[in-house]
Amino acid sequence: NTVAGGAGWPAGPMDPFADTLQRLRETFSSGRTRPAEFRATQLKGLGRFLQENKQLLQEALAQDLHKSTFESQVSEISISQSEINLALRNLRAWMKDEKVSKNLATQLDSAFIRKEPFGLVLIIAPWNYPVNLTLMPLVGALAAGNCVVLKPSEISKSTEKVLAEVLPRYLDQSCFAVVLGGPEETGQLLEHKFDHIFFTGSPRVGKIVMTAAAKHLTPVTLELGGKNPCYVDDNCDPQTVANRVAWFRYFNTGQTCVAPDYILCSPETQARLLPALQSAITRFYGDDPRASPDLGRIINHKHFQRLRGLLSCGRVAIGGQSDDSDRYIAPTVLVDVQETEPVMQEEIFGPILPILNVRGLDEAIDFINRREKPLALYAFSNNSQVVKRVLAQTSSGGFCGNDGFMHMTLSSLPFGGVGASGMGNYHGKFSFDTFSHHRTCLLRSPGLEKIYAIRYPPHSPRNLRV
Ligand code: NAD
Repeated sequence: NTVAGGAGWPAGPMDPFADTLQRLRETFSSGRTRPAEFRATQLKGLGRFLQENKQLLQEALAQDLHKSTFESQVSEISISQSEINLALRNLRAWMKDEKVSKNLATQLDSAFIRKEPFGLVLIIAPWNYPVNLTLMPLVGALAAGNCVVLKPSEISKSTEKVLAEVLPRYLDQSCFAVVLGGPEETGQLLEHKFDHIFFTGSPRVGKIVMTAAAKHLTPVTLELGGKNPCYVDDNCDPQTVANRVAWFRYFNTGQTCVAPDYILCSPETQARLLPALQSAITRFYGDDPRASPDLGRIINHKHFQRLRGLLSCGRVAIGGQSDDSDRYIAPTVLVDVQETEPVMQEEIFGPILPILNVRGLDEAIDFINRREKPLALYAFSNNSQVVKRVLAQTSSGGFCGNDGFMHMTLSSLPFGGVGASGMGNYHGKFSFDTFSHHRTCLLRSPGLEKIYAIRYPPHSPRNLRV
């Protein structure tokens, strides 16, 4: 069954989605989702879903990714709850017409931007933060007054089940549906016309989604991935850098779109960083990381095999152990890595951190700029001028100086990629705006025709002075 939460909506024999989509469209046309009260009710329902099913979600995340309770709480549940609370607090302010400045010809008029819901929007989510990356965009879509089709990842199976079976009970099913499936079903779904598509996933599938959307001229937000560089300057405290880099590289077992993908530093800094990284890894995960409750597992066998293949690049300096019986890969650091090796060709998305050597900042900046624009970029230095130079001379979706991760915890900052790492952004009010059409509105007086008549032909040189 490809449609969850759609009880009473029989699927057609040829197209399992048609009836559901038509139902949602009818709801949108009826205007039901537009009032602030309705939107707030949906958001409160979403909040109740999180509160009442916290344990269920934590169990599902543990089954899918061996996520620790701490990680589930911080990076999946609390962050989604904060997003809901923010939207509830600001909903009416965000919905207000935005007055704009006027020119001479419109001085007497009313000019404003109205934030209108698009209509029927599709959200497609990945498996690595299967609650967060499903609910965060959903908050924006519902706050903006849309009807929503949600397609969770079929790979994080336990979480998908909770989202399909439990979440719809907390939302108005006339405006919301969960659709299940992998590439084939999603491909079928994408043949339908939506008014906006919000996709989080790989650049490869991002292209498939955008191609399908183009057939209907549907606007897309693409939250993609890539290789996030992390420059470490000679002028740094190696232990502080190692703590921060190790924490975020191995958080969620490295399966994080904004994790530092590789380090660029001089051979001297590498020599100082290696013992510091080893010390951080041992402190975080113990002498046997496999026994640590804080280290997760690789999502499935396919990704495990892919990552195990990458362990043969360069030379293993830390970790390197793996066991396919429980898809375990130790927190690993690789050195002597060549730019041409597989580990530098694809997004790693696992607990493997290659270090590449550069001779100074200029070479690091060149290295970064030769590649696709990343989703995130990190620079560590005690010298703020170095951090500012990396920021000024590169481009990326987001940037964080002297840490990883933290920039995306601020809902006052937009989160999104640039170039190959994506287009559009969300979080906080940016989500509301992403899921709203910004309608240009000018209301004029039906009178005052004598003044306005100046623009009509026949034109004389006198008119041109206006
Ligand atoms: P993915 O692209 O394989 O899958 C994402 C979604 O697309 C899933 O729901 C999946 O069912 C669907 N899908 C897969 N193949 C499809 C096809 N052929 N046609 C239509 N739909 C299809 O990504 P993933 O493996 O789930 O997630 C990992 C990727 O996501 C990484 O590249 C990572 O960087 C990226 N990511 C980005 C962000 C971000 O916020 N920018 C966040 C998390 C993950």
